[in-house]
Amino acid sequence: MENFRDVVVMGSGCSGHTAALYTARANLKPLVIEGHEPGGQLSMTTLVENFPGFPEGIQGPELIENMRKQATRFGAEYMLGHVTSVDLTKRPFMVHVSKHVIHTQTLIIASGASARWLGLPSEQALIGHGVSSCATCDGFFFSGKEIVVIGGGDSAMEEALFLTRFATKVTLIHRRDHFRASKIMLDRAHEHKQIEFLTDTVVEEVHDVKKKEVTGLKLRNLKTNKVWDLPTSAMFLGIGHIPNAKMFEGHLDMDQDGYLKTHDYVFTKVPGVYACGDVQDRRYRQAITASGSGCMAALEVERFLEQKGL
Ligand code: NAP
Repeated sequence: MENFRDVVVMGSGCSGHTAALYTARANLKPLVIEGHEPGGQLSMTTLVENFPGFPEGIQGPELIENMRKQATRFGAEYMLGHVTSVDLTKRPFMVHVSKHVIHTQTLIIASGASARWLGLPSEQALIGHGVSSCATCDGFFFSGKEIVVIGGGDSAMEEALFLTRFATKVTLIHRRDHFRASKIMLDRAHEHKQIEFLTDTVVEEVHDVKKKEVTGLKLRNLKTNKVWDLPTSAMFLGIGHIPNAKMFEGHLDMDQDGYLKTHDYVFTKVPGVYACGDVQDRRYRQAITASGSGCMAALEVERFLEQKGL
């Protein structure tokens, strides 16, 4: 593998693939480091109905695979692994991927965001044993069982609706009685006879760590303070995401929640380093906006290299 590059793309979600497609078509032979979750969030979702061009919708994994094939066709290269550290103090920048060091004139950070957890010790102990953040990956294991989904946004609604394929009943638990979810998704979930809503309620503990399986949840109603146990076989989290930008602490500007700060859409404070997609977008966080900013970052890379005569 060529270790001196014009452009390295960090991440292989829709922003990374789009950046790869555009830089590949500009003949820059981008190297995409796939990251912890190759394919990003789309690879863990089901039907995507709001990406233009697919009147009947398209499955997330198929959409992301198509993007990858498209970028590959124009010469993008993909490398399995994740970036462990970067040196942005001088160009060419150094990107460490385990034992490999890649030197690159420009860097596109498209590292996305990963699922947020509640942070309870019992929840962490039971990840993979009935606690999950991926309905598409793990829903099947709970066929014929009753399960719980946590959250009040579109992800939670989507997970709850998807999980009705397997579960006999889905209880959707939200900490408030107002929802961030779009009306269409909320209505679908409300109208579904297998989904029951529990609002103003939080999870205080997941049972049963000793048995290494989820048997129920200790819940608290925040308005009445009532505490009770709800038997369930699984808890799926749909409570949003955390940007994958920790390694840039002290190197690039971030907001209070760890999102990379950009100006003029995709510029970071380091010339030649651009950020796109969910790692820098806390506002829109859509596949189409992530792709759009991936395109912008790629165009800026082209301009930068041209201006530098590289
Ligand atoms: P989100 O809109 O930020 O919603 C996160 C939800 O989790 C909120 O209801 C929040 O409660 C709750 N939450 C956060 N931390 C919590 C905690 N520690 N304990 C309990 N609850 C917690 O995130 P999202 O649903 O992942 O959606 C992100 C973006 O992707 C949105 O723009 C959404 O429209 C989009 N999306 C679209 C689709 C679709 O159109 N098919 C599907 C999925 C996602 P509060 O409301 O109280 O803060």
